Amino acid sequence: MIKRSFFGLAKPRFVYESLDSPMTPERIPMPRKATLHFDQPLERRDALLLNPGDKVKTGQKLVLTEESEDYVISPVTGSVSSVSAFIGDFGASCTAVSIDVAAEEEIDSGFADVSGDVSLEIAARYLQHLPGNPPFKALTDPRTQIETIVVTGLDPDLLVATHQQIVQSKVNAINRGISLLKKMTHAKHVIIALPQKLVKRAGGVGGASGVEIRIISEDYPSALPPFVMKEVLGKVVPAGKSSTDMGVAFFTAEAVAGVAEAFQTGQIPTTKTVTVIKKDLSRMLVEARIGTPLRDIFAICGVTLNDRDRIILGGPMTGSSIYSEDYPVGPETDAVMVQDSAAVSLVSDYPCINCGECVRICPADIPVNMLVRFCEARQYETAADEYDLYSCIECGLCTFVCPSRIPIFQYIRLAKYELARAEGKIEAEEEAPVETTEEGAEETVEESQEETAEETDA
Ligand code: SF4
Ligand code: SF4
Repeated sequence: MIKRSFFGLAKPRFVYESLDSPMTPERIPMPRKATLHFDQPLERRDALLLNPGDKVKTGQKLVLTEESEDYVISPVTGSVSSVSAFIGDFGASCTAVSIDVAAEEEIDSGFADVSGDVSLEIAARYLQHLPGNPPFKALTDPRTQIETIVVTGLDPDLLVATHQQIVQSKVNAINRGISLLKKMTHAKHVIIALPQKLVKRAGGVGGASGVEIRIISEDYPSALPPFVMKEVLGKVVPAGKSSTDMGVAFFTAEAVAGVAEAFQTGQIPTTKTVTVIKKDLSRMLVEARIGTPLRDIFAICGVTLNDRDRIILGGPMTGSSIYSEDYPVGPETDAVMVQDSAAVSLVSDYPCINCGECVRICPADIPVNMLVRFCEARQYETAADEYDLYSCIECGLCTFVCPSRIPIFQYIRLAKYELARAEGKIEAEEEAPVETTEEGAEETVEESQEETAEETDA
């Protein structure tokens, strides 16, 4: 993964591990209980449209209240067992809905009834939470005019092989999905960004007319969207803007294949491909229903957790630690990594020694040593105005190389989150959340399920 230069002062290289050929993913059995997360707080309990005891079908669109714009797709058939509040990243107030899975599966016909209409509106109404999280919601903003679609076939984080697997094993579905996306968005250009090795292995991908294959480097972080914008499209995303603001929409290979599958079958895909990175850094690919607890995956993959081992949702550079094996697979869960307690570096209290490693490695040329001081001191506006906070592409390299083990990347993410919250873009709740169970009891959920400012170190 790491290639160091012979010359000590040169930057170390971090190289994506390629998947030499498609693997056969291990199928995780249907879970007994599936849990779904809504990115909205649990409030106005009397207005809830989902309550314990309610029956749901696979593929059914679930919303919390009449006013909700957010929805999730039920990945299973069963009955709701609890609706509870939980605290997500950085104290965000979210809602978890648990479903006891029934023995017989029933498929909801809601999407099938409208799937003859291949449009952005239908995609945004039903396919926003496909495996791979396509950005349909952002694309329906009337101010957004998409000119270019970029399909990424290389996973953005190191050691993760989910999209590499899809791009090698679902070539026909990807090509069909690209045609559908062109029709929906009227995008003039479609680009598939792949490293050279993967182009050969994914023979035929991008066969549709008007699709360009662009070669990206195998060096991390070449597959991160801001990096692709700069290196492949020659566009620098201005601070505070996104690629969609600039007319470019990024889709993962998994999401594109899912679009094709959904419109072809009339059923919304609900199975996620996940890379499991074990303590010895060996990898397995699994296919699990969205909502499956990680515990079920670990059992099949032979992963045993001991006291103080760490679970990381995502890859080694950009993943976040979580505390519980009950945490469910989501549509965006490309990887789960387990670190042995002996390999876990606790966040240290060492101060910055001004070694400059973080500045040297930063691909965005940010004065990271200064930026982190202001983020640590919670002077977020100064961090943004004077030290380039919004130019950070969130690659995590600075944290990886910091000899003082300062969780720089996590401070940066927290700073961006707090500024977004201050601008009213995100809601967060300070009160202790409560849970409604099937018996109607309300319980306090005491602990945050996600760690917010902890170091990720592979
Ligand atoms: S995470 Fe760190 S190294 Fe990466 S772009 Fe941001 S500041 Fe630079
Ligand atoms: S790498 Fe760590 S110790 Fe070195 S300058 Fe950056 S923050 Fe300070």
